[in-house]
Amino acid sequence: MLNRNQILAAIQAQIDSCAGTGKRFAVQIVRVRGLRDISLRFGWERGAQADEDARMLIGQSLRPIDQVFHSGDESFTVLLPDMLSQNHVLLATTRLVKAFEQPLNSATSPWHGRPTMGVAFFPDHGADADQLCRRAEIAVDEAQRLGERSVFYRPMGPGKEIFYEELREAIELNRLRAYFQPVVNLKTRRVVGAESLARWNSPLHGEVEPAEFVQFAERSDLIWALTRWSINATLRHAAALGGRQDFTFAINLSTRVFTKPGLVEQLLDALQIWGLPPSTVVAEITETALVNDLDMTVRVLRRLRDHGMRIAVDDFGTGYSSIAYLSRFPATELKIDKSLTGAIQTDARTTKLVHGLINLAHEMDLMAIAEGVEDQVTQDMLTEMGCDFAQGYHLGRPEPAADFVARFAPEPAPL
Ligand code: C2E
Ligand code: CA
Ligand code: CA
Repeated sequence: MLNRNQILAAIQAQIDSCAGTGKRFAVQIVRVRGLRDISLRFGWERGAQADEDARMLIGQSLRPIDQVFHSGDESFTVLLPDMLSQNHVLLATTRLVKAFEQPLNSATSPWHGRPTMGVAFFPDHGADADQLCRRAEIAVDEAQRLGERSVFYRPMGPGKEIFYEELREAIELNRLRAYFQPVVNLKTRRVVGAESLARWNSPLHGEVEPAEFVQFAERSDLIWALTRWSINATLRHAAALGGRQDFTFAINLSTRVFTKPGLVEQLLDALQIWGLPPSTVVAEITETALVNDLDMTVRVLRRLRDHGMRIAVDDFGTGYSSIAYLSRFPATELKIDKSLTGAIQTDARTTKLVHGLINLAHEMDLMAIAEGVEDQVTQDMLTEMGCDFAQGYHLGRPEPAADFVARFAPEPAPL
């Protein structure tokens, strides 16, 4: 694999040669799904061969002046000089997709790879090598999220670029804050833990809705850093509750982080650092978009389960969170979306639906948890229906994690 600096140098050389000429070129990131699997199934050596064969295959579909670099796990950076328009790149893309209709190399790597691409143009999308690479990465992430073959970088509108740098810095410098919202056992009416929710007060934009910055992070590479931050911040506060090992803490995990190796290790490392058992963690996953690699996601979830963590299917009953996932995910709890919870008082059909979901959860040996409980009547109805846990403004608003810890830390033993 090539050093990132070498790739950046090659891009810089292109930038230099275009200076003042009005010429354009494209940086394309090609992600080839399937390569990692080869390495896992047949060993490192075959994996390295497959990487090289994939690089050659990409090269064969391009012009002699184009350059292809192996730039990471399943990832290649392609430099396409003298691209007059997006149509030229589309042509290159079509040829590349066609090339992958055959095996990587019928002699040495008789397997198929599935390419997804993201493209950034110089000078339209960036003035330096690092920015062009990042934007091509953002585009390929977007392509994967949308399930498309190839996507051109889309400028995010005024201000959004600052947003990226600002959010990156906020995460790195630990400027986000963890809020905990209590989760209550409906039968005992006791708090049994909390869901961890991120908060960001940006000096430029003020308080930014989590839905907004989480989605933004998901669209860029920041989701990894955000996830790492979230795991550590949550467990650090959980550890401060020492002695309350009966509490569990729910961490929201974007399905995007399941396709990158290392998530399980990251969780286990953090648990070890903070001296907590894996049963402390409930991994909450939401289907906000198509899962790119369902098999891989299920494998990672299973590993989390094998280590003793719990898994909640979040926002159940909305969008993509479908019954199909329930049968495949090794979940331990089903979290009923607040749009359903909020309607059980007013809509008889929703009441029946929620009741049915609670029964379905129990039938599948899952716990049922309702979110968005905003009043006593709703709480009573859910308790009546046999719902196990609940969360909502009526039971406790999200509060700074330190306040939650202060409220629930065990009393010091009397002298
Ligand atoms: P979510 O996982 O569905 O989280 C529950 C949301 O409902 C939270 O919104 C919470 O403040 C809100 N909520 C709690 N009780 C009630 C209630 O009684 N009524 C109503 N109407 N809302 C209630 P929040 O904090 O704005 O978070 C929005 C979303 O952002 C979360 O939805 C979650 O998907 C995501 N998110 C938040 N923090 C993180 C994080 O650290 N990592 C990741 N990956 N996602 C996060
Ligand atoms: Ca959640
Ligand atoms: Ca939710």
